Amino acid sequence: MIQRHSSRRPGLVLLMLGALALTSCQTVQTTQPGAVGVERQQSMLLSASQVDKSAAQAYQQMMKKAAGKNALNRDAAQVARVRVIALRLIPGTAAFRPDAPRWAWETNVITSNDVNAWCMPGGKMAVYSGLIEKLKVTDDELAAVMGHEIAHALREHGRERASQAAAQSIALSIGGALIGLGDNSVQLAQIITDVTINLPNSREHEVEADRIGVELAARAGYDPRAAVTLWQKMGQVGGAAPPQFLSTHPSPQNRQKDLTDYAARVMPLYDAARKR
Ligand SMILES: [Zn+2]
Repeated sequence: MIQRHSSRRPGLVLLMLGALALTSCQTVQTTQPGAVGVERQQSMLLSASQVDKSAAQAYQQMMKKAAGKNALNRDAAQVARVRVIALRLIPGTAAFRPDAPRWAWETNVITSNDVNAWCMPGGKMAVYSGLIEKLKVTDDELAAVMGHEIAHALREHGRERASQAAAQSIALSIGGALIGLGDNSVQLAQIITDVTINLPNSREHEVEADRIGVELAARAGYDPRAAVTLWQKMGQVGGAAPPQFLSTHPSPQNRQKDLTDYAARVMPLYDAARKR
């Protein structure tokens, strides 16, 4: 997908985003700090409803395309396993934002050799069979990946990144009002797809997703320490060709140490969840 998109004209997409973004910039705190204490104000040019709608469109298209290749939810046991974990993780999202448990969450498994997983804004998630099989993930490790991806959605990192792209186009003074825009939502859907699936997250976003992810796992009764082994496995698989997941999830300095520290911090939540 990266190759296909690189042939597009990024300037044109930025122009169109500029037109979308001619609303006022908003500073928001998307999530409550939780036990892990993630607190950072975010600048948003694009509205959540606009972004979530485009994400849902993009997601539906991708699932349709996967179904066309007979690569959607082929292994019933695998799908059930992933969805059970999602259903256990989602209630804990309320610790970060009360509205999240009521989002239109969707979880599907794509048959692919790629080691990959992602969650689009609004809770549209995909786990690739390559990740499950090549890493031989335990349930705790799968919960660590999914918790991390859900955290990106809760923090609205996709909306933040799309907003940054829009702000850039405005800074370049190429105001989108100059061009006719027939199909904004299609363009935005493309950007959401790119920031979720093709382009690397920032290290700052990764740290936030790591910390919130371990808390979500702990609250759902999954061992938060599994995040450490998960990322170790991720680094070992693939040899000279690292998994696609690592290209979109760059390693923050000290990830292992940070995950170890924050897993320890949420152990009481894990112990409490297991007693229930
Ligand atoms: Zn990430």
